[in-house]
Amino acid sequence: MHKVTLIPGDGIGPEVALAARRVVDASGAEIEWHVAEAGEAQMDVCGTPLPEATLESIRRDRVALKGPITTPVGTGFRSVNVALRKEFDLYANVRPVRNFPGVKSRYEGVDLVVVRENTEDLYAGIEHMIGDYAAESIKLITRAGSERIARYAFDYAAANGRKKVTAIHKANIMKCTDGLFLDTVRAVAAQYPQIEFTDEIVDAACMHVVQRPENYDVLVLPNLYGDIMSDLCAGLVGGIGLAPSANIGEGCAIFEAVHGSAPKHAGKNDANPTALILSAAMMLRHLGEGEAAGRIETAVLSLLEGGVQVTYDLGGGLGTSEFADALIAQMGK
Ligand code: NAD
Repeated sequence: MHKVTLIPGDGIGPEVALAARRVVDASGAEIEWHVAEAGEAQMDVCGTPLPEATLESIRRDRVALKGPITTPVGTGFRSVNVALRKEFDLYANVRPVRNFPGVKSRYEGVDLVVVRENTEDLYAGIEHMIGDYAAESIKLITRAGSERIARYAFDYAAANGRKKVTAIHKANIMKCTDGLFLDTVRAVAAQYPQIEFTDEIVDAACMHVVQRPENYDVLVLPNLYGDIMSDLCAGLVGGIGLAPSANIGEGCAIFEAVHGSAPKHAGKNDANPTALILSAAMMLRHLGEGEAAGRIETAVLSLLEGGVQVTYDLGGGLGTSEFADALIAQMGK
């Protein structure tokens, strides 16, 4: 029996989290769920969007499945998502992106993995106002941080039969920060001669990924470029309703969809839960439950391929909970 903290989140979070929980429970894996709250509503109850009880549950279980959480723009509390990544030092954000049979896309043959550094860069949140006429933010890149994300990317490539790692940066302009990132990734690459290594400047990489995504395999990026590139990549294959992710640290991992809380859809039972369900499958593999994960992924592929039993964003008419019902029925076949 695995112990997992389930954070429903807010917006569409509770609906997609319930769908994912039901699918995992039907997959054959035995999970003891510990439901823990986080998000805007907790501000009124506990005075913080990330209560200590939730942190304690994750500390105990070491694994969490998390629904999206709203972050106020410009003012208000800082992102719970960023706080969790920092608190548990979840330094690797892993986002696989591939074509799904039956899902319309402008591209074919996309099968890449974005490995984003998750704790440094402009996301470190070291920023302040200079009077009321300017603002300054520090882009923090360390050798240690760059080395562990590079190592993660190459180990991931080696363990998953991947052939090539591409480092993406802007070292021509940010010679110190991105220069340090690139030099460090290069040094790690030299220790993995069986894996091809290339690097590209981020603006050129955006154009090339859009033109020929099939040329890419594993991408490794500092935090901010990784954030942008992974949404761009999700858009290549049918949108963020289908994009899963893992946040991995040394002794802890949190799995979540790439998408946010989609407030317009909250409470309507129409959001696509596939991204969180595929994130849950990544979580099951992490827990050594590869068979249960495979059962979920096979059932997802066959529903998507059918193209009928899908949610509105894929042209279907199923609600969130009905999609989970259909998936559970498909796993039973
Ligand atoms: P979003 O991902 O919530 O929505 C972007 C678009 O995609 C919207 O049109 C939305 O309706 C659609 N969409 C998203 N998920 C969908 C799903 N599962 N099924 C169908 N359609 C879906 O991004 P946003 O609007 O920029 O952000 C909304 C809130 O979510 C913000 O407060 C943001 O900070 C937060 N957010 C949280 C996370 C997280 O918890 N990890 C990630 C991204 C954004």
